Amino acid sequence: MKLANQVFSRQILKEYYFLYGNQIAKHIKEIPKREFAYASVDRPGLKRHLSLENSERLCDMLKTVSPLHFYHSGAYYLFPDKEMDAKNWIEADLIFDIDVDHFENKDLPNQDFIEYCKLCYNCFPPSTDICIKCNNKLKSKLWLNQKDLFEAKNEAMRLTNILNQSFGVHETNMTLYFSGSRGFHVILDKNEIKNLDQSSRMDIVDYMRLTGYNLSYSEPKDLKNILKQFIQDDYKIFDKKERKILEAIKKKMLNKDESESLTLIQKFSPKNRSIFEKYIKKKKMIEIDAPVTSDIHRLIRAPYSVHGKSGLSKIPVQDVDLFNPFSDPVLLSRRKITLKISYMPKTIFIDNEYGPYFNEVKELPECFAMFLIGRGVAYIV
Ligand SMILES: [Zn+2]
Repeated sequence: MKLANQVFSRQILKEYYFLYGNQIAKHIKEIPKREFAYASVDRPGLKRHLSLENSERLCDMLKTVSPLHFYHSGAYYLFPDKEMDAKNWIEADLIFDIDVDHFENKDLPNQDFIEYCKLCYNCFPPSTDICIKCNNKLKSKLWLNQKDLFEAKNEAMRLTNILNQSFGVHETNMTLYFSGSRGFHVILDKNEIKNLDQSSRMDIVDYMRLTGYNLSYSEPKDLKNILKQFIQDDYKIFDKKERKILEAIKKKMLNKDESESLTLIQKFSPKNRSIFEKYIKKKKMIEIDAPVTSDIHRLIRAPYSVHGKSGLSKIPVQDVDLFNPFSDPVLLSRRKITLKISYMPKTIFIDNEYGPYFNEVKELPECFAMFLIGRGVAYIV
């Protein structure tokens, strides 16, 4: 990070953690049993295996360190500050992570990209190939946009519905958080859930992700709903060969009633059957990031802490329908600051439209400056 960016980030985060330290402490249960970890503005790497006696110590540490990223363990330990194998694991929250970066099957049709130079760190509009300054070949980098987050939001809603309907978890027993960047976390921390071992957690992952799915597991009622979708679909997320097979199946199914279609499925060749199973899997699976749920020692971003790559805070989401990811989690200062933007696509931030900017000096709110610095496209002048 450029020195001016470091000085600015440290200052804005210091101010933030003075204001929000208590809020963070309030949202972490059983502080003395957790492992804490942070990354700071001026030093690379993660400082792990920290233990804090109580909320006062936690607030003190946040004010002193003003972390760029701040995490706690989902697990509760007897000795949280010791090395992994000496910590003495007691139990752990059940954590689900929905992150568009890890989507395998969902189509994300509205992604924005920027091009950047690995040598001079300058950014350019999409469709630029070569860095103007150093003639280096540019790399594409995904931009964080609202449209992707709406996809993540839909997936998070599907997840909470399944937890509610298939696992009987009442809404009041799960907390939905915006992750601070490209997704959502769902945390379950009731006693009967916390003592689930790793293998039970892996079973839950398999259920959500439909691992090893087989057509014979499907309820006819479910299949009927899938068939309706299938007939209207364009199979965009499949490759050319698979699309051809799916279109041929669709042709056979057109003008057939539901029970005829179900009989037809029974007669599929093994190849067609496996492609159709893949179709169902892609449509029905929940895109949770598997290791986050199955790893019982996982660190997770602390509630109300700032995500250093976006300047957005990880906050609980009360009403998911009304939640605006580029407004509600903006808790950093809104004072104005001048910065130079290498390149950024058009972005709507706290209901204002900015950009596209290319090689421009602008006066912007500090919270948005932090967003741009976190994305690596701007520096303070
Ligand atoms: Zn360059």
